[in-house]
Amino acid sequence: MSERKRETLVIIGSGPAAWTAAVYAARANLDPVVYEGEPSREMIPGGQLMWTTDIENFPGFPQGVGGQELMDRMKEQAVGFGTRAIMENIVEVDFSVHPFVLKPTYSDAIEATSVIVATGARANWIGLPNEIRLAQSGGGVSACAVCDGALPFFRDKVLAVVGGGDSAMEEATYLTKFASEVVIIHRRGEFRASKVMAERALAHPKIRVVWNTQVTDVLGDDEITGLRLKDTVTGEEREMEVGGLFVAIGHTPNTAFLNGQLELMPNGYVKLPTPWRTSTSVPGVFAAGDVMDDYYRQAISAAGSGCMAALEAERWMAHHGVAAAESPVIETAESSIGMAGVEG
Ligand code: NAP
Repeated sequence: MSERKRETLVIIGSGPAAWTAAVYAARANLDPVVYEGEPSREMIPGGQLMWTTDIENFPGFPQGVGGQELMDRMKEQAVGFGTRAIMENIVEVDFSVHPFVLKPTYSDAIEATSVIVATGARANWIGLPNEIRLAQSGGGVSACAVCDGALPFFRDKVLAVVGGGDSAMEEATYLTKFASEVVIIHRRGEFRASKVMAERALAHPKIRVVWNTQVTDVLGDDEITGLRLKDTVTGEEREMEVGGLFVAIGHTPNTAFLNGQLELMPNGYVKLPTPWRTSTSVPGVFAAGDVMDDYYRQAISAAGSGCMAALEAERWMAHHGVAAAESPVIETAESSIGMAGVEG
């Protein structure tokens, strides 16, 4: 017999998908535990909405709502129904056995009858050595305007934003509150951002766009002083003085800890083999939110998929004879689960 603590449902993550799954699971008496992660330079519990000021498109908030406030409210609702929240990452999983085995950062490994992966996605970097060095040292490079833009360091300076998507538009517009000028540097001649957000940024008197341009180096020893730029059409190189750099070039799903144990799509997002289901390649493991969604990537769609994952986990466990908060009867991955599939 294993000495490990057995959980019925473990939810990994702490964005809208994770907390919505927790609300549904807790109300279904599944006694869920949420591993909400620990703060780091790139990640904070609560997911990417913790870095968003105003959310105007989450239904139910006609005046808008702050990202942190929305996450706090979702967590409060989940905890109010009995969800346990643990501020650790899950750093390792073993989905080849059942109950599944999960290793948190600091505490002992646990077992889980069912798992919902809702670990979201993280900001991408260009990958330049000086970019990473100055981001890590706090020398004026950031991947999050909402987190860092208001710092005294960035006040009344020329700030560069790299990217041409909605994130770049949002970050640039946000930074106009603090900067003397915001320069969007985009590698192509047109934005991929939605029309409304691009128009808002282009119309702003403090925002200028440098088209067809790639950042090839970040200049400065302790603090950023400028950028080396390359024209992607002519190949011409030049330098530009800036007092800060904000990188807004997309996100990568947080799947490294899965270590290949769930099937992924070619772009790294968790693959969901059945349309309109959150079940993954491993029966009993479900995925919700940005970790499996490379298309919508919205708070409301993440929350909706969290609801779906909790309902599917509940039905999957019921189908396998695991009643709410009872010991499961499933023995091994090979025997009952592997044969029975995931239908609830
Ligand atoms: P995105 O749409 O994938 O855009 C990434 C941008 O970065 C693209 O313009 C891309 O250039 C550029 N890029 C990628 N790699 C680069 C590199 N190595 N060097 C220079 N530029 C690079 O990502 P996103 O803006 O983060 O948006 C992601 C999703 O979230 C979208 O669905 C978006 O609509 C949504 N979103 C919505 C809101 C909102 O509604 N409030 C806010 C933010 C994001 P190319 O165009 O040349 O590929």
